[in-house]
Amino acid sequence: MNDVVLVAGAGGFIGGHLVAELRKRNVGPIRAIDIKPMDQWYQTFDDVENVVADLSRLDACQVACVDVRDVYNLAADMGGMGFIENNKALCMLSVLINTHLLMAAEKAGVKRFFFASSACVYAADKQTSADVEPLKESDAYPAMPEDGYGWEKLFSERMCRHYREDFGLETRVARFHNVYGPFGTWDGGREKAPAAIIRKVLEAKYRDTGTIEIWGDGQQTRSFMYIDDCVQGILKIMDSEIIEPINLGSDQLVSINGLVDIVEAIAEIDLKRNYKLDAPKGVNGRNSDNTRIKELLGWAPGITLEEGMAKTYEWILEQYQAREEKLQTA
Ligand code: NAD
Repeated sequence: MNDVVLVAGAGGFIGGHLVAELRKRNVGPIRAIDIKPMDQWYQTFDDVENVVADLSRLDACQVACVDVRDVYNLAADMGGMGFIENNKALCMLSVLINTHLLMAAEKAGVKRFFFASSACVYAADKQTSADVEPLKESDAYPAMPEDGYGWEKLFSERMCRHYREDFGLETRVARFHNVYGPFGTWDGGREKAPAAIIRKVLEAKYRDTGTIEIWGDGQQTRSFMYIDDCVQGILKIMDSEIIEPINLGSDQLVSINGLVDIVEAIAEIDLKRNYKLDAPKGVNGRNSDNTRIKELLGWAPGITLEEGMAKTYEWILEQYQAREEKLQTA
C-alpha cells in the first residue's frame, strides 16, 4: 500500500509540531513514533497511530516502515549545548536510528526520506568570531564539525546521500539552525538557549532575585528559527528536488545578550547579569546563509525573533505557573 507517513521522534519538540501540521494537510494515515512513554510526548493526537518504540533497533525500524510512503526522521538523543558537550557518545549513538531507519525504509519501498541535520555539522574554524560570515552549505567541508553530535549528523547526511545514489531512495536533508517555540524542552538540562533564558527570567521575576546567570560572556552570536518556519521549511524541502543538504534557519543574527534583552522586554524586567565563563557555550558565532534556500524555494524563514519569543514566553509562563502551583499543593 505504502500510504503511511511516518514521523520518527514524534514525541519531541519538532516532531510533535510536524505531526500537527501533517494532520492539517490531510496527508493520509500518520504513524508517530518515539521512545519516550506517551505521557511525556509534547503533543499527541487521537487520530494518529501513536507508537512507543526504540528506533535505534533495526527490528523496530522494520516494523515502523511497514506500508510507509514518507519518513521524517526527527528522532535523536539530543539537547542544548550543556547536554551535547557532556554526552558525546550518546549523541553519536543516534547514528543507529538514522542508519536502521534508512535500511528498513529502502527494503519497505519508502518513496521519500527526510533527515533532520544540524548547523553543528559546520567546521569549527568558520565560527571562531562573534562577528560571523553566515555559513554556506559548502562550509561543512573540509570537515571539522562539533565533536560528537556534529560528527553523527555529518555521517548520517552522507548515509542519506549514499542510499539515494546506491539504492535510489529519495532522501532530503535540512541543516536546522537553533529551533525554538512552544511545546519543547524548557527545563531539566536538555533545553536550548531561548527556552533556558525565558525560564531563568521567569525564575528571577517570580522569586524576585533580580539576577540572571548567562553561560559564557553573552557576546556569542546565533540565529534562532521559530518552530512554524521550521515545519514549513521541512515540508517544502521534502516536496522539492533539493537533493543536497540545505540550510534551514533564520538569518536574524543576535548575541546572547541581545536575546536576554528581548526576553527582559517581554517580561518587563531589568536583571543584573552574572556571566558564567566556564559553562558550555559552543562556538563564538553562527548564522545561516539563506542564499540557496531563497534561490531554490523562493522562501526562507521570516518570523522575527521578537514575535517568536513572545509566543514562546507565553507558553513557558503557563508551564512554569502550572509547575509552581503543583509544588505548592504537594
Ligand atoms: P527533541 O529531543 O525534542 O526530539 C527528539 C525526539 O527523539 C525525542 O522525543 C526523543 O525521545 C526521540 N528519540 C530519541 N531516541 C530515540 C529512539 N531511539 N527511538 C525513538 N525516538 C527516539 O528534539 P527536537 O528539538 O525536536 O529535534 C528534532 C531533530 O532535529 C533532532 O534530530 C535534532 O538533532 C534536530 N535538530 C534540532 C535543533 C533544535 O534547535 N531543536 C537544531 C538542529 C537539529
